[in-house]
Amino acid sequence: MRKNITILGSTGSIGTQALEVISKLNDKFNIIGLSCGSNTNLIKKQIENHHPQKVCVKDERDAEFLKREFVDIDFVFGDDGLTDICSDKTNDIILVAVSGKIGLKPTLIAIENGINIALANKETLIMAGDIVMKTAKEHNVKILPVDSEHSAIHQCIKDLDFVNKLIITASGGPFLYKTKEEMNNATIEQALAHPRWSMGKKITVDSATLMNKGLEVIEAHHLFNMPYEKIDVIVHPQSVVHSAIEYLDGSVIAQLGLPSMHIPIQYAITYPERVEGIKSESFDFVKIKQLDFQEVDYNKFPTLKLAIECGKNGGSAPVIMNAANEEAVFAFLDGKIKLGEIYKITEKAVSKYFSSSSVNKISEIFELDKEIRDYTRSLIYANISC
Ligand code: NDP
Ligand code: MG
Repeated sequence: MRKNITILGSTGSIGTQALEVISKLNDKFNIIGLSCGSNTNLIKKQIENHHPQKVCVKDERDAEFLKREFVDIDFVFGDDGLTDICSDKTNDIILVAVSGKIGLKPTLIAIENGINIALANKETLIMAGDIVMKTAKEHNVKILPVDSEHSAIHQCIKDLDFVNKLIITASGGPFLYKTKEEMNNATIEQALAHPRWSMGKKITVDSATLMNKGLEVIEAHHLFNMPYEKIDVIVHPQSVVHSAIEYLDGSVIAQLGLPSMHIPIQYAITYPERVEGIKSESFDFVKIKQLDFQEVDYNKFPTLKLAIECGKNGGSAPVIMNAANEEAVFAFLDGKIKLGEIYKITEKAVSKYFSSSSVNKISEIFELDKEIRDYTRSLIYANISC
């Protein structure tokens, strides 16, 4: 039977790859909905190729403009549009591949409507992991990870009760073999030149500072209900071992493959099946010859340490860290601050706000998120040396 699917963020890096996967698996999916921000040129092509019933765009004007061209399609817009599209119970699964905090509310709405989630968006679990996982449990909804590391763990785990620890691999990003000073003063182009993965700009910068790995540790904690003490991070520059788990008897099971996001996307949306679809290049151990592993240099990558500490503290800490880091990353991409200042700004926001803030509800999470973003922007625009 065909699965009904909606893709939030269909114009992004994950979204476009998901549509490539679905094109290969035509007989397995009906595309119910697509959503984008403002890339109307691409969404037009996607509508022509994939014939969704409903499309959500960010702005009302774009929705009206598109409606004139595609009269048979239901166009919605903004936050209400995402709510509308995620309330449609004809969906069997929704792939959440928008970037940023915009992903959280629609994900919760889809969960409340009993729709399974293929989750790429990081902010959903970073900002509200406890609430999201609890709601998913209450509604018997599966949260299927799309990120390659969590997909690897998902593929390796048979029974959580027998797992001793999770081992998350990190490529080390573009600055693994550079000095800390070279990294901190890197240009935007250097930070965006990831050696292994082609991704959206925000996650690529996070991968350069290793914040991305910190976010992944927090996500793994929520997805697999694993204490932080049982989640290790190791550097593995080839990105062939996507992550591993160690069982109680010391046996280690890892998932390997050449770097490609098509495979974890495909696994998440076709789960529990495993299909040929977009097939990875055949894996040749002999050709690969050598796999390297090393410890993380937390002195060089303090952002990873900060993220893990924030995860351990829980509550408001990951919310503060996430908001400050994202604003700082945008400022870096705008040429306003240096790469090394992202850590300093994020750390300053966490130190200033953590002890005085608490978040128990989604509304409080968004209020704190806004407060932190205002504070972070004021730091950046006042050009205060942190
Ligand atoms: P991109 O920046 O490539 O794409 C983001 C998508 O979200 C686009 O479709 C964009 O629309 C849409 N979008 C952004 N802001 C808004 C908004 N305010 N309202 C509506 N839509 C919006 O990101 P990626 O695909 O790289 O990543 C998506 C998510 O998945 C992120 O959270 C990332 O951390 C996570 N992830 C990504 C991986 C990757 O390999 N890329 C791997 C693992 C996780 P438009 O372009 O039309 O404006
Ligand atoms: Mg990843």
